[in-house]
Amino acid sequence: MTVLRKNLIDGEWLGEAGSRNVNPSNTNDVLGEYASAGPEEAKQAIAAAKAAFPAWSRSGPLARHAVLKKTSDEIMARKDEIGRSLAREEGKTLAEGVGETIRAAQLFDFFAGETLRLSGEMVPSVRPGVGVEMTREGVGVVGLITPWNFPIAIPAWKIAPALAYGNTIVFKPAELVPESAWTIVDILHRAGLPKGVLNLVMGKGSVVGQAMLDSPDINAISFTGSVGTGKRVAAASVEHMRKFQLEMGGKNPLVVLDDADLGTAVDCAINGAYFSTGQRCTASSRLIVTDGIHDRFVDAMKERLDKLVIGDALDAKTQIGPVVDQSQLKQDEDYIAIGRQEGAELAFGGERLERETPGFYLRPALFLGSTNAMRISREEIFGPVANVIRVKDYDEALAVANDTPFGLTSGICTTSLKHATHFKRNSEAGMVMVNLPTAGVDFHVPFGGRKGSSYGPREQGRYAMEFYTTVKTAYTFAG
Ligand code: ADP
Repeated sequence: MTVLRKNLIDGEWLGEAGSRNVNPSNTNDVLGEYASAGPEEAKQAIAAAKAAFPAWSRSGPLARHAVLKKTSDEIMARKDEIGRSLAREEGKTLAEGVGETIRAAQLFDFFAGETLRLSGEMVPSVRPGVGVEMTREGVGVVGLITPWNFPIAIPAWKIAPALAYGNTIVFKPAELVPESAWTIVDILHRAGLPKGVLNLVMGKGSVVGQAMLDSPDINAISFTGSVGTGKRVAAASVEHMRKFQLEMGGKNPLVVLDDADLGTAVDCAINGAYFSTGQRCTASSRLIVTDGIHDRFVDAMKERLDKLVIGDALDAKTQIGPVVDQSQLKQDEDYIAIGRQEGAELAFGGERLERETPGFYLRPALFLGSTNAMRISREEIFGPVANVIRVKDYDEALAVANDTPFGLTSGICTTSLKHATHFKRNSEAGMVMVNLPTAGVDFHVPFGGRKGSSYGPREQGRYAMEFYTTVKTAYTFAG
């Protein structure tokens, strides 16, 4: 029997079946039916969040700690089951699905702790007899709009700080991954959140997402997704004078210098470019390699690519799962065609694969002989596709790495302290990795980028406070 998952509005599960959720490893496998909210439901959810804000924002740290801690504990206890469902829904491997679920538990645990560490400042005024206090308060109703590629971690890293700092929420997950979103909301609801504090509105971006953008009653929006939608969020937020935070694309460079350890460089490139089917905004899509190591690196990459097991995400042996859906697969294939037309050499992969079940399987693709001016070097593909750009030395590598409209992550593989240090200081990215893949970050430190990748304060860690709170400066005259 297929399950029916409903939206949570003002503490009630509401709605009729509106969309189906299909497993990208096996399109005959349907996870369930999901309610699809319209503008009216969005309005009800926003009104409920607005009504719940005064009490929740004054609820005190212990009430918030209790809900967040309980949520973390339940997610951790169910990590295998939730991780499996995530892999079935999104197509990342079982290990990645379980890993992401553990990360969500850690995020709730971290922000449970933060509720007990909120502090302010008190200073003497320049006027005698007057004291000044600086405190932080919740912003109000926050709208959270999330993408499909991290179906549980991204909702967790927005919901946990939003609740910890006393905000109420309208949460709109991506259409492709409602099960993970529903699961996390169900856990939070049962953990004891008062009605209206967290509202789930599954549905179309152009309908329910747009209704959120157009509402004067949403005080802040945190968005992760495409550049195009990010710009709409920005424009609508300016119109309503609300706070907004955007995490968008990347075209992240991994530099490999002559003095790199070859094994480390290949590990970093394979993981960064192809794991999670390349569907990470932190993926290494440009491999910038100096002359002296180029041929050895390419040979080793082809050898490793040839050994990767591509298949059903739920098979424990699989290393690369399917692409998430038909339209993303088409985008990947279109870019592979564009790369060839531009004159890059497709040295490995790029073709559709047949497996036992119907799914969106694509062999990871590696281009050689590409330049940084080609579209495959400038536009985010968001699939298992990477291209090698050959350069003469470190200086050229750094210049090419920075020559991009994006700036999320960057990486360098080198054994030179001088070049590693120089790269960390001069790379125009929000997160820089030395001898590590560009993807794969800790849950307790800031996440975010520069240039066209991000806008607004950082997410995660203590830095999340900047977005989810507003500062109050209070003056008291005591005679
Ligand atoms: P992707 O191409 O990765 O799916 P999108 O930016 O289209 O990226 O989607 C990210 C999130 O933004 C999803 O939850 C989607 O439903 C939502 N979204 C899409 N269009 C709009 C819109 N016009 N207004 C608000 N949210 C939207």
